[in-house]
Amino acid sequence: MARKTTQQAARSPARVLAVANQKGGVAKTTSVASLGAAFAARGKRVLLVDLDAQACLTFSLGVDPDTVESSIHEVLTGRADLESVVLHCDEGVDLVPSAIELAGTEAMLMPRPGREFVLRSALEPVLAAYDLVLVDCSPSLGVLTLNALTAASALLIPMPCEMLSHRGVGQLLDTVADVQKILNPGLEVWGILPTLYDGRSTHAREVLADVGDRYGLPVLSPPIPKTVRFAEAPAVGRSILTTARSSKGAQAYRDVADSLLARL
Ligand code: ADP
Ligand code: MG
Repeated sequence: MARKTTQQAARSPARVLAVANQKGGVAKTTSVASLGAAFAARGKRVLLVDLDAQACLTFSLGVDPDTVESSIHEVLTGRADLESVVLHCDEGVDLVPSAIELAGTEAMLMPRPGREFVLRSALEPVLAAYDLVLVDCSPSLGVLTLNALTAASALLIPMPCEMLSHRGVGQLLDTVADVQKILNPGLEVWGILPTLYDGRSTHAREVLADVGDRYGLPVLSPPIPKTVRFAEAPAVGRSILTTARSSKGAQAYRDVADSLLARL
């Protein structure tokens, strides 16, 4: 017992990674679920936070958002400690679930001083219990996403390899610059995570080659291939790492996860 305590004390508190892009459908939620499962498979203690009122992450981890007793909404509005709403999921990760009530949370936070720091403070007491916390953002640059960027030490930006998917990235990076200046000087942009990648398409290959220079950002590797396997996984409440272990998509997420672990 004493030995365990010593080991725990030696582990540094969790790094918080925000996964954000105010565009919908770019694979934020898929990336959080898959990277989370990959980290857990490497023996890391992982907490996933669903910060989207659509609760797709919650659903895709096998939890019915309509039946959760307390969610991130209660945490952010001061009615519950974060630890008390954590659920343990089959995928080997812990989850702070979302629920439809989160749609009203921004309005409730709006008049509060320090509203951008609420998630950061709520996470503080649990950081010692995890190695990694991944925050799945909603498709907006509102107060909830500002909370994620303020709580995070690093940002990953999932982006499909298509021209139109670039739109809005400049605006996201402007917001990041503001956050770094005012709210969270420690926030690092770890880079773009290319998603929904079709290696047979010349256009996709060109976008992949150009996107890093265009925004002056690192591009994580390998790109996540587009495959129908991703659509199947959430329906059974597991990530593609479980439903299609040896698929190229699962392998790509494991490789990206390993490259991220090497930076910790
Ligand atoms: P976001 O959270 O950014 O809105 P999602 O992760 O929900 O995006 O993904 C949007 C849709 O794209 C989902 O239906 C998901 O199953 C699908 N998807 C995600 N990644 C891939 C992929 N690599 N190949 C094929 N479909 C994917
Ligand atoms: Mg999502």
